[in-house]
Amino acid sequence: MLIELKDVAKRYGEGPLAVTALADIDLLIDQGEFVVVLGPSGSGKTTLLNVVGALDTASEGLVKVGGVEITTATRRDLFGFRAGTVSFIFQAFNLFPGLTVRENVQFGVDAAGSAADPDALLSSVGLGDKGDRFPHELSGGEQQRVAIARALATGNPILLCDEPTGELDFRTGVQILELLKEQAGNGRAVLVVTHNREISRMADRVVELSSGRIIGDGPPVGGTSPVSELHW
Ligand code: ADP
Ligand code: MG
Repeated sequence: MLIELKDVAKRYGEGPLAVTALADIDLLIDQGEFVVVLGPSGSGKTTLLNVVGALDTASEGLVKVGGVEITTATRRDLFGFRAGTVSFIFQAFNLFPGLTVRENVQFGVDAAGSAADPDALLSSVGLGDKGDRFPHELSGGEQQRVAIARALATGNPILLCDEPTGELDFRTGVQILELLKEQAGNGRAVLVVTHNREISRMADRVVELSSGRIIGDGPPVGGTSPVSELHW
């Protein structure tokens, strides 16, 4: 299993003011899986993603990702883990505004010490002709494609996407989801967080959160739909 969580809990703060963001989380995710994590605002989606990606630490339980036991890893292990195992894609794209599109992707290549060609990666996300532009010269959907190319540049086996379509119009969002789903076809594990149930219909597997707990884990109700059939 690429991702294994057992009895995971996450609390913020201490004593009577403590907030339980995650409780009793058991989750196994294999390579090649495309998983949508669905739940309303405040249900723990971002916390779950951050615990898997070692941006946050669990208060209890076992977190093992890409063979690394995050809960007991040293800071040095975690540094290697973040560079070589997980890549994040955020709602707000988080590109470097002063770097060109090509340089943004080169950053991902360098960070992972990979030998990938930024222009080939940009072509693979449909931006082969935009390498010399700056992020602010691109549309939102194009900027998210750059962020995806930067994540793919690392070659990392896990893509963690926190509301990646949150700032995009419907058509553009659907194209981004298609691109992300393709990456699971390439053998990665792809987790997409959303509060939008319609988006979850295109997943093979939906992990539904409510108040920090998993209340459902399986195919979407009515089965997986082609991306072209989504409406939101
Ligand atoms: P979601 O992404 O589903 O909107 P989050 O994972 O961001 O939910 O938050 C889950 C719960 O944990 C919420 O109640 C939120 O207020 C709380 N929370 C998240 N991060 C922190 C933090 N750094 N300090 C205190 N509470 C937090
Ligand atoms: Mg969130």
